[in-house]
Amino acid sequence: MIRPSLIAALLLTAALLAPAPPARAESGAAGRPVATDARLVGDDARTRLIIDLSASADIKAFTLADPYRVVIDLPEISFQLPEAAGREGRGLVSAYRFGVLAPGRSRIVVDVKRPVAIDKAFVLDAVEGQPARLVLDLTPSDRKTFLQSRAAREGDPTGAIASTAPPKTNDLPVVVIDPGHGGVDPGASGPQGASEKEIVFEFAKRLKEKIEAGGERRVVLTRDDDTFVSLPGRVKIARDNAAALMISIHADTLQDPFGVRGATVYTLSGKASDKEAAKLADKENRADLIAGLDLSDEPEEVAGILFELARRETSAFTAQFAKGLVRELKKAAKLNKNPLRSAGFRVLKAPDVPSVLLELGYLSSKEDAKLMMSEAWREQATQAVAEAVDRYFATRIAQGTPGR
Ligand SMILES: [Zn+2]
Repeated sequence: MIRPSLIAALLLTAALLAPAPPARAESGAAGRPVATDARLVGDDARTRLIIDLSASADIKAFTLADPYRVVIDLPEISFQLPEAAGREGRGLVSAYRFGVLAPGRSRIVVDVKRPVAIDKAFVLDAVEGQPARLVLDLTPSDRKTFLQSRAAREGDPTGAIASTAPPKTNDLPVVVIDPGHGGVDPGASGPQGASEKEIVFEFAKRLKEKIEAGGERRVVLTRDDDTFVSLPGRVKIARDNAAALMISIHADTLQDPFGVRGATVYTLSGKASDKEAAKLADKENRADLIAGLDLSDEPEEVAGILFELARRETSAFTAQFAKGLVRELKKAAKLNKNPLRSAGFRVLKAPDVPSVLLELGYLSSKEDAKLMMSEAWREQATQAVAEAVDRYFATRIAQGTPGR
């Protein structure tokens, strides 16, 4: 007996073999999102399809074999794409086509040249001056893995993309832990010889052990000893390692008469990286990778879009981790009255690495200083951060964006 799903798939394939339907006059009228532009970027190592949408939409991406395809299902979309959209391939993609599948449902079918893995599939909401964007990132795979991930998906009613082979150590997602200061830069100092650079280094080492204990992640420290590393140097370490997360650790002093104390989690504030965007759009600085995509051959407009996408994606993941971190820390440590803040810290400016700065406490507070120098506190607090890291990755895997 032929399964209904197979019949449906065959019918869909037939329907989608036809050229994309022309944009209809009434399109977009019934509140349907309109697809206004599309582009393929990248190469055989990573190929990205970006589709501009007038409004956000929920999508589901999955693979089909023989021939190899990636399918994106979404609510009904009015496709008003340029004539040539989808006809020419690039990187792993040979072509793509799109259309309305049934009332209320649309589908995009991406023909690929070889087995691929869906590394990312998401839609970013529209923000000021930028449309909503659908992003599909494909990376090379092999037939066996391709078929396995398909089988795993079929066995899973949620349709989640499951990875089957246990990752090799070098493939593990990297977490960069950045103990602040070091060497000639001692950072803050507190009562009884408390030294920021030492406190944060001890904390970082313990945190590394805890995060690596599960065997699912690799930790890179920005300094292995008491040496000076510049702020751009720290960001570079995170980017060079294609880190999935960066946690910068500090324990500064505050000039305040009210005894401010407690841990605080900082994320990068709003428009802080516009200058970097401009710099990146400049051809001279284009010999750069962003989110695994080589920008050097892209026209300025596309480089700008890719940079903007990376930044928005990064800031969404950063916010997610920062909230989770506050939640976990609350159980183990004294928190600042206003524990989640944003600021323009230089070390948080990697456009494609979700990054937070954790002030463990303030050395200007006698209570904080005492805690931060205690072994029991360090044990508890590192455990809380490690748990927040675990939860963060678990959520990303559930969302189908496991990180690099
Ligand atoms: Zn500091």
